[in-house]
Amino acid sequence: MRAVVFHGPEDLRYEEVEVSPPGAGELLLRIDAALTCGTDVKTLHRGHPVMIPRVPTVFGHEFAGTVVGVGRGVSAFREGDRVVAANSAPCGECRLCAAGRPNLCEDLLFVNGAYGEFIVLPERLVAENVVRLADSLPAARAAFAEPLACALLAIDHGEVEAGKTVAVFGHGPLGCLLAMLAAARKARVLLIGKAGWRMERVRTLGLGECLDATASADIVADLRALTGGRGAEVTIDATGRPEVWEQAMGAVGRGGSVVFFGGCAPGTTVRLDSRRVHYEGLTLSGAFHHTPETIRRAVDLLETEAVVPDSLLTHRLGLEGVEEALKLMARGDALKVLIEP
Ligand SMILES: [Zn+2]
Ligand SMILES: [Zn+2]
Repeated sequence: MRAVVFHGPEDLRYEEVEVSPPGAGELLLRIDAALTCGTDVKTLHRGHPVMIPRVPTVFGHEFAGTVVGVGRGVSAFREGDRVVAANSAPCGECRLCAAGRPNLCEDLLFVNGAYGEFIVLPERLVAENVVRLADSLPAARAAFAEPLACALLAIDHGEVEAGKTVAVFGHGPLGCLLAMLAAARKARVLLIGKAGWRMERVRTLGLGECLDATASADIVADLRALTGGRGAEVTIDATGRPEVWEQAMGAVGRGGSVVFFGGCAPGTTVRLDSRRVHYEGLTLSGAFHHTPETIRRAVDLLETEAVVPDSLLTHRLGLEGVEEALKLMARGDALKVLIEP
């Protein structure tokens, strides 16, 4: 098959790769739709010791497809099933899996290979994290299940619900998915971004009240003014920038919840107001990755059209266009690119 293979940092090759038949417990999938992700851009630049422990590896991790081969012992799926697969599967046995936090599994098995014509899904993934799709759900929309499941974990952490004000920092695809989820729960959404075409595009999506941080002398003061001086009930960082983490803490109100969704560069630190954290009972939490449960709920939200993220697809290319797609992403000229093999 043709596939886009990661050979190491800055070394992506569109080449011929052999497809092996599915072994015991495995599924062979024909990929119908794959999506680019900000993580791909970072990984292409500097590698990723956790997500890509070995090279060469077929690149990409957000995809949906059709089962075209079923390994021995698999009874839950048959040829022709349309499915979405997460990009990881927890072990189910470590102390964090036992504690119901499989996103933090000590032995998370990562799966890459969205940018190929086919992919073999390993046994553990098939057992834990592959979901059959309703006929009505297009593959391009279903492929959002993985990032949407990550966002859902953050929304859960923040206990976002109707009547609360939620400030989302960052207007990239994940900031938008967070805003869509918060809006679906009938929360008031304040989306903070930077001036530019992406902001203009996001404004047209009606995800909430958009604020341009670059046009503000003090975004925290602006957010407080918009919330009657109290601050938001929930603030979520989706930028992965330490200075924005501090803004998220500054803009949250008494008794509120700050969710750190965007991962910062290694070695960075933030300042926090210890008085406020204690006397105002703030909840600070990190939200990383997804769980088999949030993956299933994400598929449900897509199937019931509670969340319709199609508007985040700004470009559509074939496999040979992956490198170009990632350049568009790196330059901030795309939100998400749909790759159709
Ligand atoms: Zn992703
Ligand atoms: Zn585990």
